[in-house]
Amino acid sequence: MEKISVGVRFRPLASNCDSDSCRKWQISDKVISLCHFNTPVSGLTFSFDHVFDHSSSNVMVYNVLIKSIITAAIDGFNGTAFAYGQTSSGKTYTMNGSDKDPGIIPLAIKDIFHTIQKIPEREFLIRVSYMEIYNEEINDLLVLESQKLPIHESLERGVYVAGISEEIVSNAEQVLQLLELGEANRHFGETNMNARSSRSHTIFRMVIESRAKEENSSKEDTITDAIRVSVLNLVDLAGSERIAKTGAEGVRLKEGKHINKSLMVLGNVINKLSEGGKTRGHIPYRDSKLTRILQPALGGNAKTSIICNVAPEDVHIEESRGTLQFASRAKRITNCVQVNEILTDAALLKKQKLEIEELRKKLQGSHSEVLEQVLLKQRNDMHKSELERDRLAMELEEERKARHDLEQRIFEQEKKIESLMNHSMSLHVSSASTQKKVGERSATPDETHLLEFDSLKTPNFKQPSIDFVVRRPNYKELESSPIPDNFAGVAGEDLWARLNNGRITDLDALQMTPGLPSQLFPSSETSLGVLSNEEKRCPRLEEELDNVRKQNEVLTEQYSKLEEENNVLKEEKIGLADDVACLENERNQLKSEKQCLIKELREEKRKLNDLRDDVRNLIAAFSQREVMLTSLCTKSRAIVENIKTAPIAPPPDS
Ligand code: ADP
Ligand code: MG
Repeated sequence: MEKISVGVRFRPLASNCDSDSCRKWQISDKVISLCHFNTPVSGLTFSFDHVFDHSSSNVMVYNVLIKSIITAAIDGFNGTAFAYGQTSSGKTYTMNGSDKDPGIIPLAIKDIFHTIQKIPEREFLIRVSYMEIYNEEINDLLVLESQKLPIHESLERGVYVAGISEEIVSNAEQVLQLLELGEANRHFGETNMNARSSRSHTIFRMVIESRAKEENSSKEDTITDAIRVSVLNLVDLAGSERIAKTGAEGVRLKEGKHINKSLMVLGNVINKLSEGGKTRGHIPYRDSKLTRILQPALGGNAKTSIICNVAPEDVHIEESRGTLQFASRAKRITNCVQVNEILTDAALLKKQKLEIEELRKKLQGSHSEVLEQVLLKQRNDMHKSELERDRLAMELEEERKARHDLEQRIFEQEKKIESLMNHSMSLHVSSASTQKKVGERSATPDETHLLEFDSLKTPNFKQPSIDFVVRRPNYKELESSPIPDNFAGVAGEDLWARLNNGRITDLDALQMTPGLPSQLFPSSETSLGVLSNEEKRCPRLEEELDNVRKQNEVLTEQYSKLEEENNVLKEEKIGLADDVACLENERNQLKSEKQCLIKELREEKRKLNDLRDDVRNLIAAFSQREVMLTSLCTKSRAIVENIKTAPIAPPPDS
């Protein structure tokens, strides 16, 4: 268990600020108090292990709070450092710094590469990603197209941002360039507080993998093949602010609300964590993307440092007090830190190791920097194609879900249309029967067969069941039965009730005739004289008929609208299917690209083998010559020796 390191840093007073204020923050060693005319205000005294006044530099903060995290990250421990505080309190200055006073991020980058150079017995692989959380959406700052990335969780990788790009890097300059690129893509806005106030939380992440080099690895290491993987997060939070004070509105106001919400959740998480082990209960990490990503750093497996930045001006006293209270709670949190050693294939280093190791061995002899660069590029390409594959798989999954939803919606629309059709048809039937009852004598055969005609329109149409009709009793003298003769003595249930003004009829006289469509309409021998009498007896029916017609029109309109909507949805579905096909194509293309790459690698390997053979042949030829030359040399030496030792015969006397 290890406590979170918390430091408080006061930035210098802004130049345009009145320094004669009666209220001031006073720092004496590790104690900060708010003083009113040099007298400490009660309840506003705080003490911390590390306090930095306005004269402190970023290097000082780095050495005290961050350096140990960086060293630990190289040794395989997760690490997180973040700057907290209100807008304009100096968070970005602390993290990024200036040309004269480089911030924590550039200092950390340089330190990492400097330190790993001093550990020749381990092989390192470092990858970098840079993201921002803007309006509760995660965007990749290195690849502008990657926006609104989701957070996933898996047993192997823990909590991670799916689809974020990662760049494999081999030196500090490369990382600083990436940092610059990402910085240019950050969201800046203008509020009254800070002309270039950052409106997003940014997370600069380095994943450090390392393993013992083969020649140096102990017996145990070789057996387990353990790889250390640590994640280092350097976070620059967006500043909290009081909306009334900033004068924010519109987009700025929306941003402010998101920023404040995520900082509030961060505060809640810190509060809960500071309550201590058994009593703290549920920690609301999932309430914001920021806390979700920082989950391992807060109460998890990570060494964490928080720099709480304070703006010293009188106007900011309320916010400063909030920051100091946050810092007091944060320093009570303990994390459970351990080295991350993994034995599975999840480590990138291990995955790439097999493919690259052979190539590397070959390269060692040739000591060519260019070839090292090629190797790095190959590594990056391989990693990117893997990330791309993950991203495509994710997109495909989302497309599938969208398609499923769409199909569901179409199905529901079809059901709605069907029920509307049924309803509309029952209204047709009731309208038709009412028309008959009021004596629509000029009903054409088309109208009479309306039901059959409409049922042809929709394949799914269900014939409405007419399961209740009342047959006129045989004894015509019964006055209470108003069913006119021209209905052939047949009426529907509703009509029966209406015609009888709610009176109950002689149930014995009723004949139940289920599904009797042929008896629905009167025969052609309808008597006109009787109809006009019936019209007089039922004046309300005409009115009702009008209503039914109107209702019918509305329903027909609704039906056609729904049909239109259905067509649009069908088109959307086709479009989506096309998209899915395109994505599949892209994936296949990527696959084939990867295969090409592997082919090229093999080709490269083959060439290197050839080269090695050539060198071997050359060496063999050289040694042959050497042998020849040596024997030649020995022979010549012997001849010289012979000549030297041979007695010189005196010249013959002339
Ligand atoms: P924040 O990121 O918290 O909104 P900034 O880091 O942008 O605030 O700081 C606001 C202003 O104060 C900037 O102009 C910055 O240069 C200046 N500033 C902050 N901290 C310091 C410091 N320690 N020394 C000098 N200037 C500072
Ligand atoms: Mg900032």
